[in-house]
Amino acid sequence: MKLSIRRAIDQGPSHAYVFSGPPASGKYEAAIEFAAGVLCESSGAPCRDCEICRRIWSGVHPDVLIFEPEGTSYLVEQVRSEIVPEASLAPVEAAHRFLIIREAERLNPASSNALLKTLEEPLGNVTFVLLAPGALLETISSRCQVVAFEHMSPDEIIAALEAQGIDSDAARRAARISGGRIDRAQRLDDEALAARDRILGIPSRLRAGPLAAAIDSAAELKAAVEEQVATESDTDRHKREIRRARGELFAEYLDALASWYRDVAVIQSGADDALLINPEWKDQLAAEARALPHSAPLAAQDFIAQTRRDWARNPREEIWLERLMVALHALEH
Ligand SMILES: [Zn+2]
Repeated sequence: MKLSIRRAIDQGPSHAYVFSGPPASGKYEAAIEFAAGVLCESSGAPCRDCEICRRIWSGVHPDVLIFEPEGTSYLVEQVRSEIVPEASLAPVEAAHRFLIIREAERLNPASSNALLKTLEEPLGNVTFVLLAPGALLETISSRCQVVAFEHMSPDEIIAALEAQGIDSDAARRAARISGGRIDRAQRLDDEALAARDRILGIPSRLRAGPLAAAIDSAAELKAAVEEQVATESDTDRHKREIRRARGELFAEYLDALASWYRDVAVIQSGADDALLINPEWKDQLAAEARALPHSAPLAAQDFIAQTRRDWARNPREEIWLERLMVALHALEH
């Protein structure tokens, strides 16, 4: 646990925090730990094991409320009718309430304004924790204590995985391909690695195949996402959670594809093989590096980045993947 959070638990939390850092840097988990640290009644709180801790972790404790935007942003109406009233209620069971605002970057100027007064002087015994990938509007952040989060280093990820009993070769590989994201590293079981290998096979197939191979590859990538989400999701899991998981996987697979072209560029530049993210594919990467002009890996990465942006606007994999694969096919020929 971060020192500043530990201190806040020990001294009593103030009423508003921003946990700011990239996706999967542990902000949400830290917010939950924070709440559990204050509400758990065991010594050495949070114990993670008592009934209070368990209810907080599973999102059903009446004094730890978790908000998400109802649409692409928080609407003024949602802030006024859902969030602000909760901030003025007395705790139901505990001595304190936590209001955790996920994706707080989706507070627009109007909905931020609707929240300001409450952030500044909440009526009840309330702590707000706003989670965001970067800086928030100054009007908001100036009223909060900001706690910065960062991605974990490869060594930290290896240590965390080894502590969970994963053998050191697998931990090392997971750390290399997870891009500093512990959630991805933890998900890299045999099945996920097989899915990743299928994705890394796509560029070579595009190069060898006709345009139809591009369409097939798009369908395959989409199927890989569906398959993985289907195995991960419980039946009662919230629709929104499933969409989040899909988006996360989609981003992960695009990152895998981007890592391929990044490795091709590494080989083309004559850099050391130790820099490769996918050394298992060294021979295929070398063949690709010989076949492609030096401008191609960068162009491919641009296409992939564009696909990510388009998906964020309109999450329909089928459209964007097909366009991406056709573009990569053209690049490979
Ligand atoms: Zn506990």
